[in-house]
Formats: sequence, structure tokens, C-alpha cells
Amino acid sequence: MPQVSRRTAALGTENAFVVLAEVNELVRQGKDIVSFCIGQPDFHTPAHIQDAAIKAIRDGRHGYTPSAGIAELREAAARYMGGMRGLAIDPEHVVVGSGAKPFIAYSILATTDFGVGDEVIYPVPGFPIYESQIRAHGAVPVPLYLRESRDFAFDPAELEAKITPRTRLLVLNSPQNPTGGLLSPADLEAIATILRRHPDVWVYADEIYSRLSYQGAFASIASLPGMYERTIISDGASKTWAMTGWRIGFASNPTLAPEFTRWVTNTDSCASQISQWAAVEAIVGPQHAAEDMKRSFRERRDLIVGLLNEVPGVSCRTPGGAFYAWPNVTEACRMIAAADSEEFRRRLLNEAGVAVLADIHFGARVPGEGQHVRFSYAASRQAIEAGVARMAEFIRKNTRRAA
Ligand code: PMP
Repeated sequence: MPQVSRRTAALGTENAFVVLAEVNELVRQGKDIVSFCIGQPDFHTPAHIQDAAIKAIRDGRHGYTPSAGIAELREAAARYMGGMRGLAIDPEHVVVGSGAKPFIAYSILATTDFGVGDEVIYPVPGFPIYESQIRAHGAVPVPLYLRESRDFAFDPAELEAKITPRTRLLVLNSPQNPTGGLLSPADLEAIATILRRHPDVWVYADEIYSRLSYQGAFASIASLPGMYERTIISDGASKTWAMTGWRIGFASNPTLAPEFTRWVTNTDSCASQISQWAAVEAIVGPQHAAEDMKRSFRERRDLIVGLLNEVPGVSCRTPGGAFYAWPNVTEACRMIAAADSEEFRRRLLNEAGVAVLADIHFGARVPGEGQHVRFSYAASRQAIEAGVARMAEFIRKNTRRAA
């Protein structure tokens, strides 16, 4: 019998999809579930963007495009990404992908070699695909812990301690999934100062949530002196214009753009042409829909953080961006005699019908940081109010029982 390779057998995943399967099974059994699992906007793509895609279909734009993307989108994305970051980005240095996600793999592939001990530093808790792809491509994952006391930024001194002569790539993600944390301008300055002492380390700046930053203007490591040349800026259409299913991302780096282009030729050939024309309209067209969605996320952030902080045994920092809240449930676990956040999550789902993700879905537990769960608040006001009320009732009921 032919065997599955060890590399594939060991491949990680997004456990969000595992929890989603549990939720779907409960819904199928007729259970009433309030879900905060899914990390995507709960809006439709704005109508003018839909129209641009329909026009592209009607105009016969059905074929392959250059692997780097259509010139119109590379130009629009270069102006867009550069404008937000105070940089003049050459469209030749921008590559379009089928979402931002593929650039995680391309960046690891373009900066590390297989099985020779090349190290990649990445945030924990963090988007699980970083660690999974680092391992799959034969590099060594080096976790960098986010700290609640710093509103889920990391301590720059801890970063410097993790850099070795084998470090090839540093992954940064701001605004962050799953904590909603931001790297402040002061953090970015401190990181840049460290990186200047280590000129051989590339930076992958995962800035897919760049337009969902609620505290001051969005700040990128790429804007700081000497950083642009060594930084892969990764951004895209998914979160800003509610286009997750259209699969359009864009990445920029002067040296690596041609290498990414060859990777696209080797994998997807190109991103969907129809989606590329839609993304041009998303970038150059009116922005009021994107601004309305951002305002709505911000209102819901304030709502859910306020409500979570009234729940017994729960405390929640105010996240600076994205659409995630990352409450600390250490005390709530103790109150209901749950061993950890994962048992808490499972009981919350099965006994109270509230679906969230646990911290262990975003990497190994961070020593000394307690138990957390993730709420994606890309959900209606009613769902937020009902879901948090159910959670409070669940904790109260189980506390009495445990006592
Ligand atoms: N990076 C992070 C941190 C994300 O949360 C996501 C989406 N969940 C992505 C990248 C991938 O986005 P895209 O849909 O553009 O592939």
C-alpha cells in the first residue's frame, strides 16, 4: 500500500475548521448555537465591487493573467500599500496572490532552505499557518510570546534573545489574529533598532488587518528607515472589503517579488482574473462601504469588551484592531472546575451553545500567561449580547454546582 509522506502526515491546520465541524454537527442536531468562531467579515462585498466582477465576466476577461497579476492591480496595490505606509512602491515590486495566505509559504520558501536548521521567529499565540508552514518547509519554528501586560505585543528584548546566526525570517502580524493586539510605533521602533543589528534577517509583515486599526493611524515596520528593502509587506482584499472568498492578496518586496512570481507560476499560475478586476475596483473605487464596516466593527468591539468584562471570572483587554477579542478566562476556568481553556470552550459550546476558539488553537500555551479564548466579533449585536449573556449564565450556574 502506498504511504502518505511524513511531511504531509505532520502537516498542521487551522483548528478553527475542526471547531466549525463540531458546531455544524450540533446545528444539524437542531441545537441553537451562537457562533464566534469564524474569522471573516459578516458583510457582503460592496455592490460596486460585485459589479466590476460581473463586468469582467461579460467583457470576456476569462483567461490566465501574468503570474504577478494584471498591471492595473499591481499599480493600484502599489499606490495603495505605499500610500498607507508613506512609501513609494514600484508596481514591479508587487505580486498578486490567491489571497494573502500563499505568501506565508512563498516567503518561507524564498528565505529558508529545507532541513539545514534555518530558523523562523513567529508570534504565539498566532495564526496557526505560520508554524505549520515553517515545519512543512523544513525550517525550525522559534515562538515569540505575546504578553497580556503589553496588550499582546511581545517584549522586544525577548525578540533579540531569540535571534541567532541561523535566523532567516521574522514574522510580525499587526493588527493581530487572534488577540487583536497592535505593535505600537514605539514597539516598531524598538524592533527596527534590533533588526539593524541583524542585517541578514528578513521580515514578513502580515498586515492583512491594516485597515482595521482603531488606535491612531496604522503603522508598519516597512515605513522605518532601512526596513522596506528587507520587509515583505503582505496585505489584501479579504478583510478590508469583505472579500474572503474572492481570494486576492498582494505582497511587496523589491528583491523577492520576482521569486514570488516564479512560485505563483509553479503553484496557482495566477489569481482569478475576475477577482483581480474586482480588487482593482475595491482599491480605486469609493471607500465608504469599507469605512462603514470598520466603524461597525469598532462599535461591536466596544460592545463585546464591555460585556465580557462584566462576566464573572473574565477580564478582557481592549484590542486595538482586527475583529477579535481575547478574554482571559483563567479565573472562570477555576470557578467552574474546568482544567483549561479547551475544556472551558467545549463545555461552553455543548452546555451553553456558544462557539469560541481556545488559545491552544493558536499555538502552544504561553508559560505564565493563563487561559484565553477567542471571540470573532464579526457577528451581529444581538448575537454578541445573547452569546455573552449565555456565557455569564453558564459560569454562574456551574460555579454554584462546583461550590
Ligand atoms: N494572515 C492572518 C493573520 C489571517 O488572519 C488571515 C485570514 N484568516 C490571513 C493571513 C489570510 O488571509 P487571506 O484570505 O487573504 O488569504
